[in-house]
Amino acid sequence: MSGAGAGFAGTTDGSFFKAPGWVDLSKRPGESKQVPPTWRAWAANVARCAHVFYSPNFVWLSIAAVVWCACPYDLAAASEWRRGWMLRRLAVNFVTTFGYVGFWHAALYVWGCSERKFMPNVFPDASRMLHNVWYSVLAVVQWTAWECVYMRGAARGTLPTHALDSSGAYVRLALWIVAIPLYRGAHFYFAHRLIHVKPLYKFVHSLHHRNIDIEPFAGLCMHPVEHLFYFSCVGPSLYCRAHPFVFWWNGVHLLLSPAASHSGWEDHLQSDQFHMLHHRRFECNYGSASFPLDHLFGTFRDCLHGSSKTYRGAGDAAAKAAPAKDGTVARAAEDATYPPMPKSPRGFYGYMIFVASSSSAPQREAAAPRPLLPRARRRRGPRLRARRRRGHPPTARRGPERPPLALPPRGAPDAGLHLGVGLLIGVVPVYHAMLSIHA
Ligand SMILES: [Zn+2]
Ligand SMILES: [Zn+2]
Repeated sequence: MSGAGAGFAGTTDGSFFKAPGWVDLSKRPGESKQVPPTWRAWAANVARCAHVFYSPNFVWLSIAAVVWCACPYDLAAASEWRRGWMLRRLAVNFVTTFGYVGFWHAALYVWGCSERKFMPNVFPDASRMLHNVWYSVLAVVQWTAWECVYMRGAARGTLPTHALDSSGAYVRLALWIVAIPLYRGAHFYFAHRLIHVKPLYKFVHSLHHRNIDIEPFAGLCMHPVEHLFYFSCVGPSLYCRAHPFVFWWNGVHLLLSPAASHSGWEDHLQSDQFHMLHHRRFECNYGSASFPLDHLFGTFRDCLHGSSKTYRGAGDAAAKAAPAKDGTVARAAEDATYPPMPKSPRGFYGYMIFVASSSSAPQREAAAPRPLLPRARRRRGPRLRARRRRGHPPTARRGPERPPLALPPRGAPDAGLHLGVGLLIGVVPVYHAMLSIHA
């Protein structure tokens, strides 16, 4: 979703494998200062459709158009629940998603197309790859379920669509195509803020944050409940009469855009230092680099180490703790804490069996009445309650990989706004999608 100010299709000097112009190559990867976007620049970008043509959005839109021409939605078949058309959609989604994400993984980790890795001494091992690929598979399966619900609703008329039967209909389709990346940017920010609320973070979103060092399959590596929030971005297609291609374009954006932004490298198309900082510092940079929402709400973090001039949030303790002048010690210490995945194959397979069984009943896991804090902390009740009254978040249990779990900050003036908008655009569409099945 980043890519503002880039060349055609988000390239740099016509190349897919060069660092964006704002990256200071004299500094270590990930240590360039990012300039926060302004609303004026954002509006100018939108006015000339630069967010479509001079952004990776153009690459994803092209892929969406090619796949649509080859395998359009078969709404006639979808008038009945049949295994054939649903399995065909599953195959299309697998090939599209794993073809694209696999390309980025191979280009960066096998073919060596980039040179500047954010964490140069850390590479994903087999257990981490299996973990991330497993949840990416679940993402594709759930997206296919969303697609089947939509196609069935469109075929029966319970989710109305519009036909391309006039010039006005084509203009409307073009406006939707331009609008989808913008809605994606806003939806991602608010839905992401919502799942940083303490219980949702602890039981759901913390899975995505297991990846402190990121790689392309980490992008879709989310708990199935988070996938529900994530795919609820198709809300406009449920409520507004839009052509089915709009739904597909939205889905392709959801499936493909996290790959390169979670690459772990900074010198290629859609390299995303902004989101890398979210994985390293947690309570910052919830949206995308080119959308000024983080800047507006004070969560834009422009640098990896030290205090950020743009950041006004509460999760700054780990960043301020970086000691050495050149950052050497801080980076080495951080790199050494990774990976947090299970290391022994035995433990890993046990873990995979546990995850497979828990993923099949995600709601039950999320709703289980577990204590929100470790038992040791609960026993120190009065002290903890006093700290909570003062508004201090519970501190990290160990190492920089543990975020303070306390968003939205207690008493923050925008907490209600984030909660309300997050619920409205991240949860309500899930309910209505389910409802449309029985309509
Ligand atoms: Zn992420
Ligand atoms: Zn997050």
